[in-house]
Amino acid sequence: MNMFDNMNNIEFISRLANILAKKISPSNTVNSVNKLFKGYLNIDFIDFIIWDSNNLLLKDFVCDWKIFDDENQEKEINYIYSNLSLSSGNLFYFNDEEFNCEIKQEQLIQMKEVIVDENIVIYPLISNSEVFGLMRLIIKKKDILSKDFFEILNVSSKLLSGAIINYLLNEQMEVSLNFYKAMKDIAKIIESQYELSYIIPLIGEMIDRFISSHLIYIFINKENKYKLVWPNACKDEHVYTLLNKITNKTEYLISENSKVGVFPIIHEENILGAIAAYSNIEKLLQKDIDYLVQLTRQSGMTIQRANVYAEVLKYATMDALTGLNNRRQFEFRLNQEVANAKRNNNSLCGMMLDVDYFKKVNDTYGHSAGDCVLRQVSELIKNEIREYDIACRYGGEEFFIILPQTNIKEASSVAQRLRKVIEESKMDIKEAGIEDISFIKVTVSIGVCAFEESMTAKSFIQCADKSLYEAKTTGRNRVIIS
Ligand code: GH3
Ligand code: MG
Ligand code: MG
Repeated sequence: MNMFDNMNNIEFISRLANILAKKISPSNTVNSVNKLFKGYLNIDFIDFIIWDSNNLLLKDFVCDWKIFDDENQEKEINYIYSNLSLSSGNLFYFNDEEFNCEIKQEQLIQMKEVIVDENIVIYPLISNSEVFGLMRLIIKKKDILSKDFFEILNVSSKLLSGAIINYLLNEQMEVSLNFYKAMKDIAKIIESQYELSYIIPLIGEMIDRFISSHLIYIFINKENKYKLVWPNACKDEHVYTLLNKITNKTEYLISENSKVGVFPIIHEENILGAIAAYSNIEKLLQKDIDYLVQLTRQSGMTIQRANVYAEVLKYATMDALTGLNNRRQFEFRLNQEVANAKRNNNSLCGMMLDVDYFKKVNDTYGHSAGDCVLRQVSELIKNEIREYDIACRYGGEEFFIILPQTNIKEASSVAQRLRKVIEESKMDIKEAGIEDISFIKVTVSIGVCAFEESMTAKSFIQCADKSLYEAKTTGRNRVIIS
């Protein structure tokens, strides 16, 4: 006897509609749907797969819409879905010898069921005339495959399609809403920040929040070279190949294997840097590409502002003639380093450097020749010290170099090297326009001092100054250590 003879179809459909109308989680919905189908239709279970229509690839299960009772079932489902693929000719088919079943797109569009074997029936899930997934029913008895049965499934699949699409749209909207809310929050935070070193990790974290299964790299353009600033290593060659192809009109570039995307950070036609994304899954998704395009746009303005701020800051702290730190910045940095040394018990050294007989240079070759010498002495200082040493113009022709985490032995060797390099350099004074004289030589005297716990910033300077005085009074072109 056909069980449908006794079944109240209307009741079944209204129950299904009731379940789908409830605002419960997808997994609870699928559970209830399963119970209903089992109870009324003698079906073992029903499950769903939804794919990404953008990519014409079967997407992983949208987790919440699948239901697994036990491990075996999970294995079986994975097996079937891993063999179900989309071919370019709009055919869905199982690459399985046993089933060897082709499901034509047309067939699905016409809402036609596909009977894979006597136990499995597949129905398309359709929205806006597009198949966005499949529902599968595992049937206990084949004698239930009546016209009535398919009719009720036809209606059910329409109801289920609507409910799933609704859920997916809601989910999408929520993600978008969260994204825009986070964009707003982050914009507020970074608006109050001017330091690139603070802004870059914020941008990085924000990308991580919305784009998973990706490695993200942030590059800053420094004199037409891309410098990686977040995180600290990138070995992917595709990234560098794409970076080299960026122009100031590029929106974004995707590698041939679709795994790597590069998104230039551009502000008023200047390339400030780039964000690169490497996908851990098969390819970058369009939705992630869209996010990254928006994020790079937002980052462009922020980074530009940080660059302007850094420039202003540089001029406020820089000595105009030599490009070294000015006196005010010197005091600020010295106090910082003295506090650091005291707090962490680190070694710290300082050296005071003064050009010998500099007044004579001015008197003989003119003030502008003197300026040339000061600029070149400063360049030599910059070349001889480490990146984290702090060179300052202390006054006229006097310089102070702060050497953090440096012991007196290292500091004296730096001082000796510097003294020697300056002594051996020919100072170019062509700019001064003196006939027949293009180069002159100068020497410097240097006083070196090691910071001690009992010292203040002031007494530390005095200590270096005392050594410098001794270097002067004992013949000049010398280094004295105290
Ligand atoms: P010493 O070996 O004892 O250091 O002799 P000195 O001539 O270098 O010392 P002094 O302090 O008498 O002279 C420093 C000169 O540096 C005086 C000043 O005119 C000159 N000076 C200071 N600032 C500048 C500058 O910005 N440019 C130029 N060209 N000269 C400067
Ligand atoms: Mg002097
Ligand atoms: Mg001098």
